Formats: sequence, C-alpha cells, structure tokens
Amino acid sequence: MKITISINCYTNSYYTRRRNGNHETGDAIMDLMQKLNILADSAKYDVACTSSGVQRKGNGSGIGSTAAQGICHAFSADGRCISLLKVLLTNFCVYDCKYCVNRRSRDVPRAAFSPKELAELTIEFYRRNYIEGLFLSSAVCGSADNTMERMIEVLRLLREEYGFRGYIHAKTIPGASAALIERMGLLADRLSVNIELPSEESLRRLAPEKTKAGILAPMKQVRIGILENQTDLVRYRHAPQFAPAGQSTQMIVGASGESDRQILRLTQGLYNRYQLKRVFFSAYIPVVQDAALPDAQTPPPLLREHRLYQADWLLRFYGFHADELLDEQQQNFEPYLDPKCSWALRHLEEFPVDVNKCTYEQLLRVPGIGVKSARRICTARRAGRLSMLDLKRLGVVLKRAQHFIICSDFGLRRFAARPNQSQIVHALLDPQAFHFGYEQLSMFSPEEGVQSPNKQIWIAEKRGEAAECLLRQI
Ligand code: SF4
Repeated sequence: MKITISINCYTNSYYTRRRNGNHETGDAIMDLMQKLNILADSAKYDVACTSSGVQRKGNGSGIGSTAAQGICHAFSADGRCISLLKVLLTNFCVYDCKYCVNRRSRDVPRAAFSPKELAELTIEFYRRNYIEGLFLSSAVCGSADNTMERMIEVLRLLREEYGFRGYIHAKTIPGASAALIERMGLLADRLSVNIELPSEESLRRLAPEKTKAGILAPMKQVRIGILENQTDLVRYRHAPQFAPAGQSTQMIVGASGESDRQILRLTQGLYNRYQLKRVFFSAYIPVVQDAALPDAQTPPPLLREHRLYQADWLLRFYGFHADELLDEQQQNFEPYLDPKCSWALRHLEEFPVDVNKCTYEQLLRVPGIGVKSARRICTARRAGRLSMLDLKRLGVVLKRAQHFIICSDFGLRRFAARPNQSQIVHALLDPQAFHFGYEQLSMFSPEEGVQSPNKQIWIAEKRGEAAECLLRQI
C-alpha cells in the first residue's frame, strides 16, 4: 500500500542542494510534496517503527488517540509498516556513515522541512485519516543539539498548538544534550536511539563519527527517566509522562562481519541493561558501493533477519538465554530450522516432556507450543489429563510437538517407537526458509536466457540437502 496524496497549498519553501561536498542554497522552490518524497524515501531503511504499548483516549479538547494494541495496520511493498507518517526532518547530514543513503559524501537530492511545515503536514494527514501517528527521525544537520531542537519544535507544535494526542515515535540524535533528550521524552510516546552496528569495532570502521558511549549514554538516560517517571506517576497522578511507550533501537545485520551469537548476546544485554521494548533488526540492503561493505549485488540477508527476530521472541517471551540458543561451536542460526527447533534437536535429553505434569517453563521450550497454547494447557489440565486430540484443540502444532511430548494417549512406549531422526528433521524443516531462498534466487539471479527453476522441484531438492546436512550435525 502506498500513500499518494496531493498537497497544493504550500509553496513557501526552499531548495538546497549539495554538490561536490559543498552546500549550495539555490532559489529554486521545492514544494512540500517533493520534500515529502525525498524525506520519506530517505527514512524507509529505518525499521524501528512499531507503536504498541500506549493507551490514551481523546480528551474532547484535542484530536487523536492511541490504542495499546498498536496502530500499525499497513505495510509497504517491502514489508515495512507505513501506518505512521515515517519521515526525516532533513536528510542533510554532517556525518559520513558508510552504509547510509544519506551520508555526507553521497550525491543525492537533499531537503529539509521547517518544523511548522512538518507539524502541519502531520495534522493534515491525520485529519484525512491517512495516518495514525508520526515516526520522526532526522539526519544530523549542523550539530546533534541543533537537530534535536528542530525535532522538538515539531513535537511541541503538534502537542501544544494543534492538541495532537496521537502516537509519536521520535529518534534521539546520538550526542545530543541531556536536557533536550528529556524535553523530547516528555513530548513523544516512544524514543529510540539506533545502535546501528553490533560492535564498537564495526562502528569505528563504518561510522567513525559515532561512538559506543555516545549511543549508550542517551539510552541510559531514557531508561532512568522512565523509571523515575513511574515513581512520579504513583505519587502524582497527573505528572507528565516520559516516553510512556518505552524505548527501542535498531541494528543493521549483514553490513559487518559479526555472527548471530554476537548480535543476540548484545540484544540480550540491551534488554537487561536498558529495559528496551524492542530491538529491531534491519537486513543490510547494499545501497552504496564501498570496499568496507558487502558487494552491491549481495542480496539482503532477509532469512537471517527473520531468524534473529524469532530468537528475539524466544528471549523476550520464552525464557531462553542467548547462550543457550547459540554457543562457541554454533555461532549462527540454521537457515532451515527455526531457533527453537534447532535448540530442541541439540538437546534431545530434555525430552520427552509430559504435558500433563511439566511446568509452564518446560512447555514453552517444546517446538510447536507457543505462549498461548502453553497457558491453555496449564488451565485445561486442571480438569483432566490431556490427549493428543485435546492438545490439537488447544492450538498446539502437533506436526512439530509430537516428537517431544508424551500425554494421556501417547506414553513413553509409543514415544520410544516414534519416527527415526531423519523423519523428525524432515518434519521440523521450516517451509518459510525455502520460500525465502527461492524468492531471493528469483529476485537476484535471473539473467537473459536462463530459466528460473521450477519452484516445487527446487524446494524438494533443497529440503533433501538441508535434512542431510542437519543430520550430519546432530
Ligand atoms: S548520522 Fe544517520 S543519517 Fe547521517 S550518515 Fe549516519 S546514519 Fe546516515
């Protein structure tokens, strides 16, 4: 779905271009639609834009409201959510991060909104029901503080002049002063600071103007601000809220050489230390040619990104620890198995699990049993012993779970006579992995005169190869 809107009432804008490393300000007029095209396009690589967690009803004086279950309901062609107006305040940048489309040394069309223009645009879109909130980010124009001040002015206009009570997610700029971060936190629902790369070494190599300390300091400040605000809200019901939807961050996957284990350990550390709501992973899309980056023809590692999201889910809701999912011997996730199945196959000594007796935590570790079905099992088994049919009714995916559980009509004897390891591996192979693989192949390999392979045959062959490979490893 793509937002296509014509705006014809704004002409008082300026057009600034950057050529050969120098800023040139011309008289050419860039209308708001052109700016929107440039700045929304520049923002599309930022994936940290979910909006769950805030409940605020309209109060009769302003406009808008937010719902705790999230407002994201539309996705662009590349799968990114666009229900928020996702835009940069400007794409002029004084930094030169090698992986970035907006870096200083790139010759791309540049634009900047004035705070009033962007606030008006957001309100107009909201009134027309095109969007339900704003996701505001920016390149670093001048200095971190200068950029933050302009972003804060957009939020101030929205909240105080237009009475906008909808959802706002704002990016803080690394290196900005503490007072500005605090002010932004009082205006936005969610704050985020992008960690960008998974190690300090990669940061030095690909984004030399950014430092680990400069990124982590605002994260720490936001965490402390949220904790203090929770105490204030207990004491004073009407105390202003500070970033009530918490904070998140984004990490680029595949631009540098870190393993999945390094990324996952860092993710776990961020959740523990800064109580982040989400860590978003963004498969690196080669948009610039640079010797320090993967080749421009390298397909974005979408399957890897998908596996990391699955593992992230296991950390947050299933009680797994990063070091359980990957270790010294296995540094990266299996492409053809989801992380939970992969863990289960490497820890067969933990099974079978008796669904009628085991703990909730043990249930969560069984492939095919999710958080909802584990809760349902715990409730249902109070009324009597559960059979395979009961489990199916409770939402358990038996195709996977049957290899790891026993229940009232599937005891130890039948478990011992279960299919051999090869059949289990075949049953656990993730069909989505082959879909990803085939799609990437069709997207990146077809050349003149070369026929793309038949999908069914290709998938059957790949399944056979993947199962053989996994069996050798177990
Ligand atoms: S600071 Fe942000 S916008 Fe500027 S080059 Fe780096 S990643 Fe891109």
